[in-house]
Amino acid sequence: MRYDIVIIGAGIIGAMTARRLAMQKRSICVLEKESDVACGASKANSGIVHGGFDPEPGTLKARLNAEGIGKLYKAAKQLNVPIKNNGSLVCSFDESEDGKILELFERAKKNGIMGVSIIDKNKIKELEPNISDNVRIALYAPAAGIVCPYELTIAAMGNAMDNGVDLKLGFEVSSIKKEEGGFVVSSTDGKRVIAGVVINCAGVRSGKISELAGAETIDIMPRAGEYMVLDKSEGVKTTRTIFQAPGKEGKGILVTPTVDGNLLIGPTASLVDEANGKDTTEGGLNAVMRYSQKSVPCIDYRKVITSFSGIRASEKNGDFIIEESANVQGFINVAAIDSPGLTCCVSIADMVAETVNNIAGEAPINTRFNCIREDTHAFRKMNDEQKDAYIKEHPDYGEMVCRCEHITKGEIIRAIVTNPQTYDVDGIKRRVRAGMGRCQGGFCGHSVMRIIAQVRKCRMEDVTKDGADAKMVKGRV
Ligand SMILES: Cc1cc2nc3c(=O)[nH]c(=O)nc-3n(C[C@H](O)[C@H](O)[C@H](O)COP(=O)(O)OP(=O)(O)OC[C@H]3O[C@@H](n4cnc5c(N)ncnc54)[C@H](O)[C@@H]3O)c2cc1C
Repeated sequence: MRYDIVIIGAGIIGAMTARRLAMQKRSICVLEKESDVACGASKANSGIVHGGFDPEPGTLKARLNAEGIGKLYKAAKQLNVPIKNNGSLVCSFDESEDGKILELFERAKKNGIMGVSIIDKNKIKELEPNISDNVRIALYAPAAGIVCPYELTIAAMGNAMDNGVDLKLGFEVSSIKKEEGGFVVSSTDGKRVIAGVVINCAGVRSGKISELAGAETIDIMPRAGEYMVLDKSEGVKTTRTIFQAPGKEGKGILVTPTVDGNLLIGPTASLVDEANGKDTTEGGLNAVMRYSQKSVPCIDYRKVITSFSGIRASEKNGDFIIEESANVQGFINVAAIDSPGLTCCVSIADMVAETVNNIAGEAPINTRFNCIREDTHAFRKMNDEQKDAYIKEHPDYGEMVCRCEHITKGEIIRAIVTNPQTYDVDGIKRRVRAGMGRCQGGFCGHSVMRIIAQVRKCRMEDVTKDGADAKMVKGRV
């Protein structure tokens, strides 16, 4: 199959880029090695819309962060993805940290960020009563926010697909050869596609993909960040995202509510092998508890419901790499997209679209492009009367499956058949939150499997957690 553009990687950057490029008349395909989208850094991060005060002035990160905040709020609204403009505070808890807060304030100004201010202890305590009494001053960034990163990725890819983009899952790119007719992109199991332009959005593997294409050497240093998620009863401990003064290793441990109402604490920052960077460690999680206590001492750690780790695709120069290769014409690297890549996803997609237009020429506008994605939360948002009427027409919405998150059979079936489709239990979890609650799927796991088996017309034994090898049950007893 031949496409005008092939994108490697279905994280938030590949997904948002595909959506942006679909606004013009072009054939586009996204290749992803996993069984679902959002399986890399885009599923395991802090989910913060960063306020733009942290990146070094003059860098791509600084420019795209400043441009990206408003663009992200707008795109999330079009995609019907919950996003909340809750604001953030970077706090000092010791005299030695005050200078860093003032430095960030100056940086914010240089980066063109409006509305930030330095606030004193009284104001901080007024905004966030549970913050430690040791707090001194804070940088307040009212434009910052929170968003669910995997839901955003799923919605962006779904909207791209509704507008004609192809997605090939389970396609692990292992060879990229430039021939006369275009790039031949092949997978480990012998599948191939032809492309006029190739865009490398492979996250922590972007260095390897650049190497496969014969393009520039990009030395990605995977850095893991470990987190704990607490029950919704703890989600009220803060309203804003609370950062500590950043150190050499990054933005430090944060305490934040999530857009779904949980409390999230983390991340650590340690260099890892990509192979085991997704594992949480005793040392990492202890550090998360120790440092989060410095900001909010009343966190009840008995209410931790799960933990996870994500891997940042960091590079030694510390900036994003978004450019056409000087060695391989038509090959674009979108590499080293570590934090604040999620915040910048729409501004990065715009920049890539500009690069594609420079290479391939401006394509006509796709007049059929529809930027709105149907609201997959519509049922949840109904009042009891509306739900009652809806259930009469659609009885599957009257069968409660996940008791923690109140998710019905109807919502699960809809998630299975909506772009990008999934038959994985984890895929359902990321789309509708069945299994994301207090019991982490202990109650609803088997019901979700049963529904997937019914829709897919397969045996329960064939239902997978996250891809072909991850079967969950062996047989009947
Ligand atoms: C711990 C942590 C905290 C963060 N916090 C924030 C935050 O609060 N706010 C913010 O703005 N940013 C944050 N970020 C950064 C943000 O998560 C990333 O910038 C963003 O998710 C990168 O998206 P991506 O699409 O480039 O990479 P990924 O999501 O990793 O996607 C890359 C995709 O490429 C696929 N792939 C790789 N190799 C191949 C191959 N050979 N063939 C086919 N497919 C392949 C992978 O499977 C993967 O799906 C954080 C990152 C981490 C890790």
